[in-house]
Amino acid sequence: MPKLMIDGREIEVPKGTRVIEAAKRLGIEIPYYCYHPGLTVAGNCRMCLVEIEKMPRLQIACHMEAQDGMVVRTDTEKIRQTRKHVLEFLLSNHPVDCPVCDQAGECWLQDYYMKHGLYASRLAEDKIKKHKAVVLGPTVILDSERCILCSRCVRFTDEISKTHELGIVNRGDHSEITIDPNRALENAYSGNVVDVCPVGALTDRDFRFKIRAWYLSSGNSVCSGCARGCNIQVQYNLDRPHHGKGARVMRVKPCFNADINQWWICDEGRYGYKFHDQNRILQPVSRSGQTAREVAWEGVLSEVAQKLGGSREKIGIFVSPQLTNEELFLIRGFFKEGLKCPNLFLLSPKSEGRQDDFLIRADKNPNSKGAELLGFPYDPKAISTFASKCSLGAVDGVIVFGQDLLSLKNTSLDKSVLEKLKWSVFIGSNHNATSDRASVVLPSATYVEKEGSFTNFEGRIQRFKKVLEPLAGSRTEFEILRALSGLLKIAFRYQTTEDVFTHLQAHEKPFQGLPCVQIGMGGTDIRVLAEPVIPAIEQKGDIL
Ligand code: SF4
Repeated sequence: MPKLMIDGREIEVPKGTRVIEAAKRLGIEIPYYCYHPGLTVAGNCRMCLVEIEKMPRLQIACHMEAQDGMVVRTDTEKIRQTRKHVLEFLLSNHPVDCPVCDQAGECWLQDYYMKHGLYASRLAEDKIKKHKAVVLGPTVILDSERCILCSRCVRFTDEISKTHELGIVNRGDHSEITIDPNRALENAYSGNVVDVCPVGALTDRDFRFKIRAWYLSSGNSVCSGCARGCNIQVQYNLDRPHHGKGARVMRVKPCFNADINQWWICDEGRYGYKFHDQNRILQPVSRSGQTAREVAWEGVLSEVAQKLGGSREKIGIFVSPQLTNEELFLIRGFFKEGLKCPNLFLLSPKSEGRQDDFLIRADKNPNSKGAELLGFPYDPKAISTFASKCSLGAVDGVIVFGQDLLSLKNTSLDKSVLEKLKWSVFIGSNHNATSDRASVVLPSATYVEKEGSFTNFEGRIQRFKKVLEPLAGSRTEFEILRALSGLLKIAFRYQTTEDVFTHLQAHEKPFQGLPCVQIGMGGTDIRVLAEPVIPAIEQKGDIL
């Protein structure tokens, strides 16, 4: 392993490490635009120039590999002057439109100008005019004048999405990013080009002009869009409801996780956040015939407890693979072990969607694996047998957690079956055909409004924290089950979701033996539990 000195500090790094990364390990920030750890090195922005002893000219730190005995300096007068000149060059044709640019507040040109530029402008002449507000596809818009030609977006479409829509045309200061004239930027990962663009050249059509970046707060979570479980940053605002519609979640960005999604997320996950605010069930509802009325939690929970007091054989419980490991475990404990109810069923994947060989999985649920490991196999035959019993009037009622019972494929469950029941209870966050027919509807929190864990298709358990408070009158499944346990005198020994996970660790295969401190947003792989030490993956929520 080469040992080198950077700004007088020694560091040993694995062979092949770039100087820019070695410096980062020491906490030394070398500015850059075109470098991205997930893409090949282009070395064209020249912002990361450093001095290396015995080399006559400045070298780009993104390209230079760390060598044994190397002595690097990143903060000399020569380097400071060079950075100023590079910035002056990059900004020579850049419009000064920060007040109307959507990137303001998170623009690397702004940031580096304040940190490394601060020169007096020597420009009086007109700037080169280029194409503005070019719609590249359904998600991204281009302002060519703001582009610094770092080529990150081109490399993304060449190396990651492998769709090759973007390129650079023309020469000198007339060079600009363009799209294949016969195509649109509509690949399944198109939103990532906005993340990699360090300036305001590529902006997100969904987010554009919604809110200034500095009004956003954020929290890390795990995407529930499919069985991969990509790590995400949920960016929200609680004070300035967007266009008066009360939306809190403003956008979703990928969070780096080496084992799951690296730096990327798919567009489905990125733009699928609106259900946190839209079409939400806001208060508990009790329905009698065609009349539905909002009711108080206490009364409605007693009503549900009363329904559960009847014959346990005549009740069916449907759980969703959208629920967390902890919730599935509690549901199993409450209904199977507590109430001795024999009819527990796992709802099938919401939709059998598209899959690719990168991130997107056909199973559009985040926790099918967790459900399977906790003893909830998906069994359409058993569901159909239960549906036949319902049709014959042999079932009193059902409790449905989280998903639309009527969207199930491969079973004979339909609305005529539901109509045969004396009652049905829907516990979920959003309206659907089942909630619209249920005699009792209990609003529950979405995954950003609670803590818990998902087990992805590879068996990686990822724990996440609450980012937002549950909307309006929603409660978590944990709270709902705790209240029902109290009413039905069923033991409930947990104070928090964390307690449930601790119990899972102690008693539930294959969660058994998972060291708590080592489980983070990086995910612990249950397949390597035999190994004595599972290194925790550092989760900084970096968006590069
Ligand atoms: Fe770089 Fe953005 Fe220009 Fe693409 S559009 S080359 S990412 S500055």
